[in-house]
Amino acid sequence: MVIRIPNSAAALYCFPSPWATPTPSVMAFLPSKLALGYPNSTLFSAAPKLSSLRLPPFRVSCAKRTGKKRYPSEKKKLKLKHKEVLTTVENKFEGIWRLFKLGVPVEKDPGKDFHGLSDALMQEIAKVLEFPVASLLPREAFSVIRKSFDARKMLKEPKFVYTVDMDVHRLLILEPRARDFISDLEPKVGLMEHFAKEKVSNDVINIVHDLKSNQEMVGANGLNGHSGPYLRLSNGKPKIAVVGSGPAGLFASLVLAEFGADVTLIERGQPVEQRGRDIGALVARRILELDSNFCFGEGGAGTWSDGKLVTRIGRNSGSVQAVMKSLVYFGAPKNILLNGKPHLGTDRLIPLLRNIRQHLEMLGVNIKFGTRVDDLIEESGHVVGVKVSDSRDKSKLSNQKLEFDATVLAVGHSARDVYQMLMSHNIPVVPKEFAVGLRIEHPQELINSIQYSGLANEVEKGRGKVPVADYKVAKYVNDMKNPSSNSLAASHSCYSFCMCPGGQVVLTSTNPGELCINGMSFSRRSSKWANAALVVTVSTKDFSDLGFHGPLAGVEFQRELEQRAGVMGGGNFVLPVQTATDFMDRRLRATPVPPSSYRLGVKASNLHELFPGHITEALQQSILAFDKELPGFLSSDALLHGVETRTSSPVQILRNPETYESTCLRGLYPVGEGAGYAGGIVSAAVDGMYAGFAVAKSFNLYHGDLETVLGHLTKSTRFHLQLKYKAILLTFKTSIEFLCRNQNKTLLGPAEGTFSAPLQYFLHTLNRVALDPIRHRHLQILHIIIG
Ligand SMILES: Cc1cc2nc3c(=O)[nH]c(=O)nc-3n(C[C@H](O)[C@H](O)[C@H](O)COP(=O)(O)OP(=O)(O)OC[C@H]3O[C@@H](n4cnc5c(N)ncnc54)[C@H](O)[C@@H]3O)c2cc1C
Repeated sequence: MVIRIPNSAAALYCFPSPWATPTPSVMAFLPSKLALGYPNSTLFSAAPKLSSLRLPPFRVSCAKRTGKKRYPSEKKKLKLKHKEVLTTVENKFEGIWRLFKLGVPVEKDPGKDFHGLSDALMQEIAKVLEFPVASLLPREAFSVIRKSFDARKMLKEPKFVYTVDMDVHRLLILEPRARDFISDLEPKVGLMEHFAKEKVSNDVINIVHDLKSNQEMVGANGLNGHSGPYLRLSNGKPKIAVVGSGPAGLFASLVLAEFGADVTLIERGQPVEQRGRDIGALVARRILELDSNFCFGEGGAGTWSDGKLVTRIGRNSGSVQAVMKSLVYFGAPKNILLNGKPHLGTDRLIPLLRNIRQHLEMLGVNIKFGTRVDDLIEESGHVVGVKVSDSRDKSKLSNQKLEFDATVLAVGHSARDVYQMLMSHNIPVVPKEFAVGLRIEHPQELINSIQYSGLANEVEKGRGKVPVADYKVAKYVNDMKNPSSNSLAASHSCYSFCMCPGGQVVLTSTNPGELCINGMSFSRRSSKWANAALVVTVSTKDFSDLGFHGPLAGVEFQRELEQRAGVMGGGNFVLPVQTATDFMDRRLRATPVPPSSYRLGVKASNLHELFPGHITEALQQSILAFDKELPGFLSSDALLHGVETRTSSPVQILRNPETYESTCLRGLYPVGEGAGYAGGIVSAAVDGMYAGFAVAKSFNLYHGDLETVLGHLTKSTRFHLQLKYKAILLTFKTSIEFLCRNQNKTLLGPAEGTFSAPLQYFLHTLNRVALDPIRHRHLQILHIIIG
C-alpha cells in the first residue's frame, strides 16, 4: 500500500528518519563492486523485462499506522492526550479555543494566497460552535493559524482546510450572546481544543534580547566548564569560529552574536551575489567552481533550492516557530507561518540571506567568504583554532592559523574533505544510513491533472486559486524471495523526496568527476516540470557489499554511484536519463527521450544498470506501486535522471546531546546536516540555534534553561537519542575492529603505565558513554583483546 498525500498538510521535507522509516535492506546481488552497464556487461542485460514478469514476491506494507493498526504505545499516547485535553479546561470563558479541520470547498474560498476569514470560513466556524448566525460572530475574535489544501481522492471534494484560534475573552466583549454557546463547548481531540493562554513564540533575536534582559549577565568571567590553556578571550568575549554559512551555521552565529560573543563566520564559498555568477557560469559554460556552486556558498546547500520549509521535527514546536519567525524577521513573507506547506523559492531566499548577512555584520560578526577550513588546531584534547586557506587559491599557499575558544562545525553533507580531516584527528565519525536513487521528472500539467482532475486548470502556473500540485509517496518493500535472510536487512524504504513542483533539476556536484543532482524552484513554481527524487534507503551492509568499509564507507558508496553516473552521461555534466517505462523494462529504446528541465544536457542511458540490483528492483517496485496511487505516474513522459545520492549525511559526528560538544575533542561543536543531526533547511537551522545556545551557555553568556524558552525538543530529542545509541554502538564496533587489527602492535604506550594511542582513544570514548550495559559489554571485549 502506498501513502499518497497530495497537497495535504502532512507532506514533509526531511531526512530518512530513523524513527519513522523502516531500516533499509540489502539483498545479496553482486559480489563486489558494481559492474556498470558498459558494452560488455551482461550482468543486467540478461535480466528479463519487468513487464513480462510475474510480480516478484515483494510484500509492500504501509508505513503509516492508523486506527486498529496503531502500536499499543501509540494508542496509549493518544489516550493520554484525550485525557489531557478533556481535563485541562479550567475556565471555558478565558484563553483560546482552537478549532481544527475547518473545511472550505474550493469554489467558496478566495484561494491559496488568502489567509483571512472569508464568509465561507465564518460559516464553518459558526457550524462548529453551533452558533446560529455566522454574520453575528465578530471576526476580530478569530485568527487563522494554518491553511492547507487537501485534494485527496477519498474526499467528496477538494477543499482548503483551516485551523482557527478563537479568543474567548475578545469574543465575549464583542458578542456577549455567544456566552451560552461557549458554555456548551466540549473539547474534542484534534477538532476543538482549549488552551489556557495563547502560546506566543518569538524570533531568535527577540528571544535572546528577552533572555538577556531577564538575566544578570555573568559575562566571560564565570566561564562554565571552559577553563584551561585554550581560552582566547578577546575583550572579555569568547572568540567563536562558526564554519559554514548554511542554515545551521547562520543560526548558530546569530544566537552567539546576539549574546555578545566575538563570532567569525568562515565560509569556503562566495556571497550570494558572486555565487549567483558562479552558478550562472556552471549552467551556461559548464565551469564548476569547486568551492562556489549549488552546495557551497552563502546560505549553504538550500540557497538555490525550492526553499521548502516543511519539517518532521514538530511544525508547532517553539524551536521551529522561532526559526520561522526569524525568517519572517529577515524578510520572508508572513504566510510561511500559516501555510500548511510553506516554501520560499530561490528568488526569495537570496534577499533574505543578504538581510541576515547585514544583521550579522551589524552585530560585529566577521564574515570570511572564500575561506576554507582545512584543519583543526588541537592542544591537549581541545580545539584551539583552525587552519584556513583562500578557497580560490589553487596552490593552497595562503595558509593561515586562526585561534578560537570554540569552533562550531556546520559544514553540510558535501564537505567530504572535512570528514577526512576529522578522521585524522581520531574524532569519532560513524557511518549513517541515507538514501540513494533517481530524480523523476513529469510535465507539471500531468501531476496537476493526476492530483486535481477537473481542478487542474485552476493552477494557472502558480498564479491560480489552488497550489501547484505536488505529491509524496512512500512504500516499504520486504523481500520474500529470501525468507532466510534477516528481515531487517531484506527490507527497503522507498519514497519520494524533496519534490519540487514547477521546478527544475540542477547539478549539485562538487567535483567535476562526480555527477549528482537535486531540484530547485522559484517562489511561483511556474516552470512546466515537476521533479522529485525517488530513493531507497541504504546502510553499511550495502556499502560493504561494494567493498566499502569503515567510517567513510557511505561517502565512498556515494562517490562510486556519482562517478558511474558521470561515465554514463559521457562527461561535461551531461546527465544519464531513461524514461520510466524503459527503466521498468530494463531497455533503452532508440526513440529520443522527452525534454528535460536540466540545462546541461541529457543522454539516454541504461540507468537500470547504475545501481546494485536490489536497489533497481526496489525502485521498480515502488514506481509500480506509486502508479497505482497516482495513475499516470509511470509513463513514457516521465524521465528518470541519475543520480540522487546526497539526500542526507552519510556519517554522523558524535557529540554530547546536552552540550553539543564533540564526544572526543573539547571546544568542537559538530552541528547541522553534515554532522548527521538534521535533514533540511528548518531542522538544520533548529540544530544550529540549539548549538548556539549550548555554546553560549558553556561560556556563561546565557545560564537559563532553554527548554523553558523553546519547549522540549520532542521528536528530535528522541531522534538524537536513537542516533546516539546507534552511533555509540558503531563507534565501539569501529574501535574494536581497530584494536583487533592492531593486536600484533603493542597496546601499551611508550612510558610505563600509559596506553597506546588507539587504546587511549577507545578508553576515552568509553568513558564518555553513560550507557552502562554497553560499557560493560565492551569492557569485557577489551579484556579479551588485551588478554
Ligand atoms: C539543490 C538543493 C535543494 C534543496 N532543497 C531543499 C528544500 O527545498 N527544503 C529543505 O528543507 N532542504 C532542501 N535542501 C537540503 C538543505 O539545503 C540542507 O538540508 C541544509 O542546507 C543543511 O544545512 P547545513 O547548514 O547543515 O549545511 P549546508 O547548507 O550544506 O551548509 C554548509 C556550508 O558549509 C560550507 N563549508 C563546507 N566545508 C567548509 C569548509 N571546510 N570551510 C568553510 N566552509 C565550509 C559550505 O560551503 C556550505 O555553505 C536542498 C539541498 C540542495 C542541494
